[in-house]
Amino acid sequence: MKALIVGAGIAGPVLALWLRRIGFEVVVTEARPSPALAEGAFLGVAPNGMRVLDTLGVADAVAQLGHPCRAFSFSNAAGRTIGSIDRSGDERAFGWPLTMIRRADLHTALTAIVERQGIPIHFGHELTGVEQSATGLEARFANGARLEADLLVGCDGLRSKTRTACFPDCPRPELTGLVDLGGFARVSRLPFRPQVNQMVFGKRAFFGAFTTPEGETWWFHNGPPGEAPTHARLLELHRDDPPWILELVAATPHVLGPWPIHELGRVPAWTRGRVALLGDAAHAMSPSAGQGASLAMEDAMELARCLRDAPDVPTAFRAFEKLRRPRVDRIFREAQRQSNRKAPGPIAAWFRDRLLPLFVRFGAAAQTEAYSFRIDWEQRAA
Ligand SMILES: Cc1cc2nc3c(=O)[nH]c(=O)nc-3n(C[C@H](O)[C@H](O)[C@H](O)COP(=O)(O)OP(=O)(O)OC[C@H]3O[C@@H](n4cnc5c(N)ncnc54)[C@H](O)[C@@H]3O)c2cc1C
Repeated sequence: MKALIVGAGIAGPVLALWLRRIGFEVVVTEARPSPALAEGAFLGVAPNGMRVLDTLGVADAVAQLGHPCRAFSFSNAAGRTIGSIDRSGDERAFGWPLTMIRRADLHTALTAIVERQGIPIHFGHELTGVEQSATGLEARFANGARLEADLLVGCDGLRSKTRTACFPDCPRPELTGLVDLGGFARVSRLPFRPQVNQMVFGKRAFFGAFTTPEGETWWFHNGPPGEAPTHARLLELHRDDPPWILELVAATPHVLGPWPIHELGRVPAWTRGRVALLGDAAHAMSPSAGQGASLAMEDAMELARCLRDAPDVPTAFRAFEKLRRPRVDRIFREAQRQSNRKAPGPIAAWFRDRLLPLFVRFGAAAQTEAYSFRIDWEQRAA
């Protein structure tokens, strides 16, 4: 069985490893000229995602480059703590902690593992079209290349060409109204401990920061769209928020982004014949729940399990979609709820300050539920 994977972001390399495990011949194609990828600057691989990597035997390689997160703390624009979530027991409870990692490091690690297993990744191959027949398919690329395969999986993210080529009636991703920026800086004496995700509902925008044990602080900002993301604009948007935010932004050599945050939650079908979508290509969600990457990893494992156990490719793809939809839809709605709470403004702030302790309790329970999800590789899928 020859599988063509389009996209070497997060879902693509993880799927390549799973398909190799079930004995498939695998080729990965990637539009970018090299593995370098930095959208979002850094991210958290949740315990459920780390467990997928663990079953593959590659979690240690990722954990070595990242840092465990021990807690979340939420404050308002005045710097008053309005809620917190203790995550110090995650390793014991789920096997792995929420692992914060620079995105570029995650990509470099995953692509290196794939290449070490002898799976080819063709960089500079941007998919432009797919032709299916009764017995197989042919994929066309912008550089003139054509590749044949028995099945194709679109792991090509939010703006998936696989989706637009094979599912022409699919709605487009929608803007959430928030834009993400990020950066890395060193500032001494921050008013929160290392390895805590410190979240601030600022007056005009949301701000998150995480300090590594080595003292580097990774930060992101979710704010309104507007002019180019300069230091000056960020300092203006956060001028009434805790002063450490201004200090951190001022100490950042390069502000990264902007990344307008999109959602794609109403894809009518994830599979058609010998083509399937997974990860953001099928279900992009607001990063507020911190689950996009981990869901993409779960998708990859589940798809491989279905291909291993089903009698043919279309049956495997249908089983995959049926198994994955409920979980993805649930987390999509939770991400949406959390994203909506980031809306700035005095009325929103008044309600949030009063209701956040309650939201935090629900949020902690939703997080724990998401983290505890397991796919049993040994069990038959279909
Ligand atoms: C700002 C931001 C912060 C985030 N933070 C978190 C977080 O903390 N935790 C979390 O779990 N998730 C987070 N996410 C979400 C997470 O990044 C995504 O859910 C995840 O990257 C999805 O992986 P993917 O492989 O499906 O898509 P991607 O990672 O987007 O990879 C898609 C790949 O396909 C390639 N490609 C695109 N078109 C083509 C084509 N035509 N031909 C060939 N290749 C193509 C792209 O170049 C890319 O390499 C965040 C997202 C953003 C934007």
